[in-house]
Amino acid sequence: MKKNPDIQFRSATEIKAYQESRLTEELAYLQAHSPFYQQMFKEHQIDLTAIKTIEDLQHIPVTTKTDLQLHNEAFICVDREEIIDYVTTSGTLGDPVTFVLTSEDLDRLAYNEYLSFTTAGCTKHDILQLMTTIDRRFMAGLAYYLGARELGMGVARVGNGIPELQWDTIRRIHPTCGMVVPSFLIKLIEFAEKNNIDYNRASMQKCICIGEGLRNQDFSLNTLGKRIQEKWSNLQLYSTYASTEMQSSFTECEVCQGGHLQPELIIVEFLDDNNQPVKAGEAGEVTITTLGVKGMPLLRFKTGDICYHYTEPCACGRHTMRLSSILGRKGQMIKYKGTTLYPPALFDILDNIPNVKNYVIEVYTNEIGTDEILIRVGSEERSEAFSKEIKDLFRSKVRVAPTIQFESADYIAKIQMPPMSRKAIKFIDLR
Ligand SMILES: [Zn+2]
Repeated sequence: MKKNPDIQFRSATEIKAYQESRLTEELAYLQAHSPFYQQMFKEHQIDLTAIKTIEDLQHIPVTTKTDLQLHNEAFICVDREEIIDYVTTSGTLGDPVTFVLTSEDLDRLAYNEYLSFTTAGCTKHDILQLMTTIDRRFMAGLAYYLGARELGMGVARVGNGIPELQWDTIRRIHPTCGMVVPSFLIKLIEFAEKNNIDYNRASMQKCICIGEGLRNQDFSLNTLGKRIQEKWSNLQLYSTYASTEMQSSFTECEVCQGGHLQPELIIVEFLDDNNQPVKAGEAGEVTITTLGVKGMPLLRFKTGDICYHYTEPCACGRHTMRLSSILGRKGQMIKYKGTTLYPPALFDILDNIPNVKNYVIEVYTNEIGTDEILIRVGSEERSEAFSKEIKDLFRSKVRVAPTIQFESADYIAKIQMPPMSRKAIKFIDLR
């Protein structure tokens, strides 16, 4: 595969021209190999020779998760013999979708994570502690492993959970960097405190955090980020955002002002509900076109993730676009008492109230047709005063107070983990 890592440091104009030359190749590949896109181009009479710029993409219909679910096979561009790895998306909405990767796709994935690790300042002198699962049909853990290998970092594949094994690994192997879901760092801190481990003197200097946002819109740490940093102050936190469909990631540099786009791997647009580009400064749906994917490339795929983006050059020297923390999933937007909200903003508050053991947020439509929020909180503390304390926190952070209902933590744990689920369910949409 052609590699051009210096492109990140070129001007925005050069980056755009580079991406547009890659786009032409990509469209030719889809026309030659993708049954789904061949059909789409034919049905909509798309003249591919007229698609030359990123703006021209607006002449092509978007691809949705429903398209992927209904026509999964038709997205595959290669023969069965060329497929090396099968993964599925986590299926946050509906059935999971199968993704296939060729040998070249695995190389591309390795290169993506190599770029991601170098953006976060990692070098081959680092040792990575992988605190995410590498199997269960996930793409991410494998990608991190391949990327670390590409960079020449040592890796300790601990997997997710088990704080005791994580600390044992830190003590034995002295990793300098962790790949982790940030709320798990709270568990590591708690375990360390109970067992007299001085985490601020541990070898771990930085963590690249996935799955949950760390920052507010002004790039300051959110409640979760602050809670980690207040205790483990020597640990530098970086955020990365990625998905199976993108086979690419957006990772923060040392300035930590949004995740950098990798221009060799992906084109991104930010669209509104009518599939029009959002105006500068508005939140939009991340819509991606993969570059160089052979097995299951996607064109204008609407990810469902909503975020802000920034185009000014970054202090790190990169001129690539940066993405904010994900505000939430498009289908999960809650309209509540004149405010629009996404579940992650509510998670951030609840995750950081010490006496809240676990919770499930339910959103339903009331008799007059507007959204209502009920939060079932698993807690031993169930006083009126505690309920008021939770509501006051919501009022101060998101300006609205949902209904709070206390339950046993065991009951909540059961709702959160139905059979076959790979992730704890914290949001239930009953609308
Ligand atoms: Zn930067």
